[in-house]
Amino acid sequence: MSIDIEKLVEEVISGKISLHKVSKIVDSKNVAVLVRRKALERMLGVSLSAIGSTIIDFEEVEGRNIENAIGATQIPLAVVGPLKVLGDYARGEFFVPMATTEGALVAGVNRGVKAVTESGGVRTKIVRDGMTRAPLFKLPSVVDAVEFVEWVRNRFEDIKKVAESTTRHGKLIEIQPFVMGNMVWLRFVYTTGDAMGMNMATIATEKACEFIEKEFPKARLIAVSGNMCTDKKPAGINALLGRGKTVIAEAVVKRDIVERVLHTTPELIHEVNLRKNWAGSIHALSFPCNAHVANIIAAIFIATGQDVAQVVESSIAWTWTEVVDGDLYISVTLPSLEVGTVGGGTWLPTQSEALKIMGVYGSGDPPGTNAKKFAEIVAATVLAGELNLLAALATRELGKAHEKARRGQL
Ligand code: NAP
Repeated sequence: MSIDIEKLVEEVISGKISLHKVSKIVDSKNVAVLVRRKALERMLGVSLSAIGSTIIDFEEVEGRNIENAIGATQIPLAVVGPLKVLGDYARGEFFVPMATTEGALVAGVNRGVKAVTESGGVRTKIVRDGMTRAPLFKLPSVVDAVEFVEWVRNRFEDIKKVAESTTRHGKLIEIQPFVMGNMVWLRFVYTTGDAMGMNMATIATEKACEFIEKEFPKARLIAVSGNMCTDKKPAGINALLGRGKTVIAEAVVKRDIVERVLHTTPELIHEVNLRKNWAGSIHALSFPCNAHVANIIAAIFIATGQDVAQVVESSIAWTWTEVVDGDLYISVTLPSLEVGTVGGGTWLPTQSEALKIMGVYGSGDPPGTNAKKFAEIVAATVLAGELNLLAALATRELGKAHEKARRGQL
């Protein structure tokens, strides 16, 4: 059946068909995207040809990763590396993809990468792993609330069985209870294989909540997400109890490498870190203490199809330095790094290729090892970025680098 695209465009412009209904009228999702874009171009008097230039096949993407699509956004992509990582999952030298429009960011991180790699590499450890969902229940009284928490503790194995019936890879490892008045939050913690795990944890927790309400009728579910999870909002609970992967990266950067590559000294970098990242952050009541972790996290997340809004909690990080035997010790602790190598946007064409650059696309063998390897690479790259910015501040090169980038001369 041939489709009269012009007629459809006119019907959208006249308001007879709403933009989102186009997909229901035509069989092809790619055609629906074209119709919406053409209608918008005419209604607004703008050309959207760049937005329309994409290799994305909306037959597969619309309804799965996006609705009401009109095309795609392109963001420049670079790599930093080779970056030497000495992790439990990531071992060797890696090129790391970063998508950004901030001039000087990639060049700066790459300088940090050179310094840590020449010094022998970045050690990484994952000390905790668990995606969380925290449903909120209302009880008649605080007495019932306390009884409810005790009941949940006693019935953990039954709740676990119900939750895990919805997924092959999701495993419920803990329920963290929190009581306030007559309200109880149950913070469910799951390992989620190679997936970031937010859908997986939500689906499993919904099923568990049905069981809990049936078995403990005094508890009424208010919301499957009671904000103590905490997803996509700044929250101390993620910093303390973790969310996703808690990863620590550390390196010792030799004095001569600090001087030759970063043009400064371990003492100056350490002083900038203490006074800026710690005293400055505390004085500003800013949380947490780092220089620009969100820059590196956001660029890698965009490149690799992660959920970009989770930059909020994934960029919580503590950057620590010491001068040890004349060399610079630096560590970065990321308590809630949320990454996946399957699911979400990871399978999209450019995003899956970006994951393949690091050898972490898809399921690991055994499952979970790819996501852990990826988390270690991200943490090591973050450390390189922190090191470089502290050095650039110590030598007062930060503004100069951005000024050069502004003129396109970097
Ligand atoms: P998902 O794509 O929803 O689930 C992962 C899928 O991959 C599951 O079907 C899983 O099967 C399968 N899978 C195959 N091999 C796997 C492996 N090796 N490890 C783990 N899973 C494997 O992804 P998700 O990570 O759970 O959720 C990410 C999405 O959630 C993103 O699109 C994000 O934007 C969105 N999100 C949702 C919410 C929410 O509240 N629902 C909140 C924030 C973000 P099994 O389950 O059978 O193991």
